[in-house]
Amino acid sequence: MKTVTEYIKEFFEKHPNEEIEHGKVVDYVFQFIPKARDPWRAIRKLYQEGWLIKVRKGIYKRIPGYKGHNVFTPFSKEIKEQIFKRDNYRCIICSKGLHNGYEICADHIRPQAQGGKSVLRNGQTLCSEHNLMKKRYGTTVFLGKYCRTMIKKARENNDTKIEKLFQEILKILEKYNLD
Ligand SMILES: [Zn+2]
Repeated sequence: MKTVTEYIKEFFEKHPNEEIEHGKVVDYVFQFIPKARDPWRAIRKLYQEGWLIKVRKGIYKRIPGYKGHNVFTPFSKEIKEQIFKRDNYRCIICSKGLHNGYEICADHIRPQAQGGKSVLRNGQTLCSEHNLMKKRYGTTVFLGKYCRTMIKKARENNDTKIEKLFQEILKILEKYNLD
């Protein structure tokens, strides 16, 4: 009896260098394990581990002998500490942080799925609430919320220049209907 992942690998090994729609692979797995749980996730994981190449959405390819790097390398401990330190151990949006008992996370500004690297300049400190918000809504919606926070802050500080800047960014977001 093989595992879901082993059946997936077997299928791709039988069809080397072919662009394969993931539905076919899932059907193959179901022949052997009708109650397989989430074979889609197992395919994604093989891609994340670098065993499969993602051709486009839902289409994958196996090149024999190809050993891709793990595309999802998390921030190292050192880099994480550098990100937190640079941001004063506070969420860059709401300023909650270790000083007042909030959890903080190191977030990828450009997501790893879009090629963002786990380096200092691609990292930012977020509280868990804003981290979740970004993961759930993506950068554009997140940017809109960020603009509103900054506008509010700028008003509190009577900083008209900054307020104007974020008003304009917000207008652009609205123009593209992305937020
Ligand atoms: Zn926050």
